[in-house]
Amino acid sequence: MTDHRSSIDPSRPSIARVYDYLLGGKDNYAVDREIGDVFKRDLPGSVAIAFANRAALIRAVGEIVTTTGIRQFIDLGSGLPTTDNVHQVAQRHAPESRVVYVDIDPQVLVHGRALLEENDRTRVVPVDVRNPEGILTHPDTLELIDPTRPVAVVFSAILHHVNDEEDPAGIVRYWRDHVPSGSYFFVSHFRSGDNPETAEAERVLQQTFGRGRWRTDAEIESLLDGLELLAPGIVPASLWRPEAVDDPRIGGGEQELTVWERLIAAGLARKP
Ligand code: SAM
Repeated sequence: MTDHRSSIDPSRPSIARVYDYLLGGKDNYAVDREIGDVFKRDLPGSVAIAFANRAALIRAVGEIVTTTGIRQFIDLGSGLPTTDNVHQVAQRHAPESRVVYVDIDPQVLVHGRALLEENDRTRVVPVDVRNPEGILTHPDTLELIDPTRPVAVVFSAILHHVNDEEDPAGIVRYWRDHVPSGSYFFVSHFRSGDNPETAEAERVLQQTFGRGRWRTDAEIESLLDGLELLAPGIVPASLWRPEAVDDPRIGGGEQELTVWERLIAAGLARKP
């Protein structure tokens, strides 16, 4: 087995580790915290965006497990383990749930091994999200995922790291065409807006990681072509089936959210 620790580069920021820092995690280096602090200083909503995104993902996984018979998940660009990972949420409701985590960050892969030791219904597959066939045919995926049964494919905060020329729609289409009907697709995605904060956030991300593409709600929706988009559609993550019905801002719609909370959208779709 490859020793992924040897390929961890503590001198360059990584998407997974900066995101971990914003979520209050400990799996990051000085270089990640430096960039994370730039985000926090120049884009003061960065932490709120990360938490709003995780919360929507957790709600979506909970809904999928409690309202459908789906018991298998493929979490693409899964990130470093944090509070309430997909397998923990799914297995809380249905202990037999199986989760394949996919990421290319060496630090995520090291933690994946630790995860494996404590849970035999999870695997971490070290394949690039832009290579969906490599993920689907990976021995660990084949071991855990039954391709004849519906599956939940999770694209949480990953497709905005895929540039247009890398065909994000083609990646989603591959999964759509290779999973049975009744499968679910969760997407969260950085969202274009007509405000300077959005433009600045996109610029900082591109400058730091050399890639990144914010998309409009219509563009995000078009990535789900051929799937049935479920209510309430593509909306800011905080407004995606919120639990806090007593939060006065929820009823007020998008205008009640801060510009930061409007920066990340979420949606859930089903293969007919
Ligand atoms: N999905 C998690 C969530 O929503 O909380 C983590 C999102 S984090 C912003 C993006 C993750 O995608 C990082 O862990 C990064 O390493 C991973 N990633 C970025 N590009 C990738 C690629 N081409 N293939 C696989 N993983 C990738």
